[in-house]
Amino acid sequence: MRDAIHTNTLLDFTHDPSATSWVASANVADCDFPLQNLPLARFRPYQSDAGDAAWRVGAAIGEQVLDLRATGLWTEGDLRGWMAASPAVRRSLRQRLFEGLRTGSALQVEWAPHLHAHNAVQYSLPCEVGDYTDFYIGIHHATTVGKLFRPDNPLLPNYKWVPIGYHGRASSIVVSGTDIVRPLGQRMPPGSTAPVVGPTQRLDHELELAVWVGQGNAMGEPIAIDQAGQHIAGLTLLNDWSARDIQPWEYQPLGPFIAKNFASTVSPWVVSVEALAPFRCAMQPRAADDPQPLPYLHSEQDQQQGVWNITLEAWLQTPAMRERGEAGVLLSRSSLRDGYWTLAQLIAHHTVGGCNLRPGDVLGTGTLSGPLPEQGGSLLEQTQGGKAPLQLPRGEERTFLQDGDSVILRAYAEAQFHLAARRIGFGQCVGTIVSRR
Ligand code: MN
Repeated sequence: MRDAIHTNTLLDFTHDPSATSWVASANVADCDFPLQNLPLARFRPYQSDAGDAAWRVGAAIGEQVLDLRATGLWTEGDLRGWMAASPAVRRSLRQRLFEGLRTGSALQVEWAPHLHAHNAVQYSLPCEVGDYTDFYIGIHHATTVGKLFRPDNPLLPNYKWVPIGYHGRASSIVVSGTDIVRPLGQRMPPGSTAPVVGPTQRLDHELELAVWVGQGNAMGEPIAIDQAGQHIAGLTLLNDWSARDIQPWEYQPLGPFIAKNFASTVSPWVVSVEALAPFRCAMQPRAADDPQPLPYLHSEQDQQQGVWNITLEAWLQTPAMRERGEAGVLLSRSSLRDGYWTLAQLIAHHTVGGCNLRPGDVLGTGTLSGPLPEQGGSLLEQTQGGKAPLQLPRGEERTFLQDGDSVILRAYAEAQFHLAARRIGFGQCVGTIVSRR
């Protein structure tokens, strides 16, 4: 246990829930970006007086973005170096940011000119994504979807032994705010004997978290489960857009392909594992007749502290809602705690055969759905495979996404039970569906 991480050693003064910032909007109750969060993104001002349009790294504080290049705290143009850095380097940057933004800091006069309003800046991906793997840890999602695709055999026998995943497509990962073009593809209409090609009629979202890999591993050298947590730099939201009519026709025997490779959206703000320290919690115990994780996937430390108490939400804003100035309607709410595997188990499994992870790689959790039908993290689940349209306010309904619809993912972490901690949020992960020209 010498190398194991203990929660108490991860907590420091940056988690003090009573600390406030001289940026007043950060002190609003339940805001996403209080002083205790300090997530990082790659951004640039829409209009720069200096004519400097270069991408740089910023930290979110309330409704403002602090330019870390201008403060001299982080001068690289993206977050790859931050991800590749040791946890100690990330922690040190976090502590300096916290001290500079704290109420009463002597740096207020120097830093205040380097704040930008969120709506005055443009975001990009945190860094170029080298590789993207999507897992399937949401057991309620896997069971419900399995029933739709294979009524007699919903959860395949490997599910409780192997963290199931597939290699996705890094090139089509886009940042929140990017429009999503409705994909074309093959689908086999019910009762037909030959497929048709056309725009998907069953476009769907998937409510997920993305793990941003920190330090990598050498090829041929698996990451041990007890070390795996230290290879995670931070988390963002992830929407793994899916075409549900293309998927069933193509997914056997090698898994999803065109149904998912056209786009995946991530939120811009990387919430660091350091910020998430107060929200660690235990894995939910496995059912008595479930197998225990194999040794390379099992660590007592990970079982006790390897999950974070993160609540996720999916919202839908239809064009009619947008015209009326309405933010949208909550479709579902779930939790990372509903997952069957920890994020450290995903890292250990991904590398067990010798695969090398690299800083800036993305691992998706898979759709996170709760145990109840209304907690499905995709429309496929919420409409029972398209059979039961969702009733929306003012007489609107949806089975799958229509052109003009926006899906907005949100998430926040909060302390459980007696632990005092300031709630922190992930911001938004937004995509709007547009038709092909
Ligand atoms: Mn997915």
